[in-house]
Amino acid sequence: MTKFSDLKLSPKVLKAIEEAGYESPTPIQAGAIPPALEGKDVLGIAQTGTGKTASFVLPMITILARGRARARMPRSLVLCPTRELAAQVAENFDTYSKHVKLTKALLIGGVSFKEQDTLIDKGVDVLIATPGRLLDHFERGKLILNDVKVMVVDEADRMLDMGFIPDIERIFGLTPFTRQTLFFSATMAPEIERITNTFLSNPERIEVARQATTGENITQGVVMFKGSRKDREGSEKRKVLRMLIDAEGDKCTNAIIFCNRKTDVDIVAKSLKKYGYDAAPIHGDLDQSQRTKTLDGFREGSLRFLIASDVAARGLDVPSVSHVFNFDVPSHAEDYVHRIGRTGRAGRDGTAIMICVPRDEKNLADVERLVQREIPRLDNPLSSGKSDETSTSSEEDKPKKTTRSRSRSRKEDKAPTEDNAPTEAKSAEPIAEKTEKPKEEKSAQPKSEGRGDDNRRGKDNNQRSKDKRGGRNNNDRGGNKVVGLGDHTPDFIGLSFADRET
Ligand code: AMP
Repeated sequence: MTKFSDLKLSPKVLKAIEEAGYESPTPIQAGAIPPALEGKDVLGIAQTGTGKTASFVLPMITILARGRARARMPRSLVLCPTRELAAQVAENFDTYSKHVKLTKALLIGGVSFKEQDTLIDKGVDVLIATPGRLLDHFERGKLILNDVKVMVVDEADRMLDMGFIPDIERIFGLTPFTRQTLFFSATMAPEIERITNTFLSNPERIEVARQATTGENITQGVVMFKGSRKDREGSEKRKVLRMLIDAEGDKCTNAIIFCNRKTDVDIVAKSLKKYGYDAAPIHGDLDQSQRTKTLDGFREGSLRFLIASDVAARGLDVPSVSHVFNFDVPSHAEDYVHRIGRTGRAGRDGTAIMICVPRDEKNLADVERLVQREIPRLDNPLSSGKSDETSTSSEEDKPKKTTRSRSRSRKEDKAPTEDNAPTEAKSAEPIAEKTEKPKEEKSAQPKSEGRGDDNRRGKDNNQRSKDKRGGRNNNDRGGNKVVGLGDHTPDFIGLSFADRET
């Protein structure tokens, strides 16, 4: 097995790695670091959780340790799709460069221009930025990109989803032709392929996990749910969510709950809070300090439920998340893989539970085609058990346990009675009324380029019926495992994360 000491990283970087508690490089690190240190372009096809951040940060620190930055001329550039991801990359630089003198600036929305301008004026070795903010600085004449020696594009597929590709192309054009480019994407949509063909020069291609796979250690399930009436669907769905959370009991130490729309992120977070759950929202419309506070709380364990949109949660590194709840079926199948990849990290077990309303069934079929298996159907907790149907408002505040049968057909899912969601319906509806017509996050805007259609292999009926294993319970975990990373499971998955666990 490759050792970090085989990789020709500087001794000061090796010391920081040792202090971080890493024993050996992950496959993307073993593959990307040597060519990066030789000055070659790198095309890394890897998802978050594979150690990809260190695969560009470590060689960059080694390379940048030689030389000095000039005023307003950063020597390297890291482009990230979201502020959180940029902040995470900056943290990685802090961790691994603690024995090296490097200056860095973070150009992200929500952080004052003035402070960043001062840093850039002095000269920085590393500039970490979101594309829009970088171009704002450039247009204000505060930044010169002629001295960029290394440029990193991180999470390129998410950049594509967010409509940042024109910005990226423009930034490429502003940097010297001779720069070294390290380019990372979880998938290779045709548009991404085009960009890499245009801007990368003879790159070393390293692919560490198959596209669109889900972790083997994640137990998955979906509840097919239909509201009793259209105007009650939202409140009843939130009740289903609460019951699902309660049914998981202590096994659910913390969870990320994904919604497709920002407005639903707010509504679900408010509703959960109202019912006594420790929950907070995170999405692109919240101000930066609030986002940071919420994320820190979730990472530290002082916040149990993070309600999130795809954009805000993409790429977040929270090593131990026991559960992911998909309040909605994602409208882009790949997002399902990214969402549930927040749990079951570093070899731990994880659980991913989704709610599917009739209009999302097409999206569910897309997800199942992409992951090449049927996601086991779970009981609809609202229709299992009489107590729900006779519940009073006050009883609803005390969530009830649900049971799960092994297999249910979609038809069996009874709609809840009118009586069984009055508290939530009364209380949460005003929130919904106050909100404008839900607006989708940028990432959810349809973009036809690629979207992984290449991967959506049809599945024959035979295979489908073989996969039908029914509901889940604890003993069923093995049976429901998704054939995912498979042969591609990175070696490091079994390693300890000693320093990151607490
Ligand atoms: P990333 O894919 O960059 O989001 O990294 C995922 C997690 O893996 C982070 O918490 C890193 O600290 C951790 N990590 C990165 N490299 C290693 C390694 N070689 N051994 C163990 N953990 C690592």
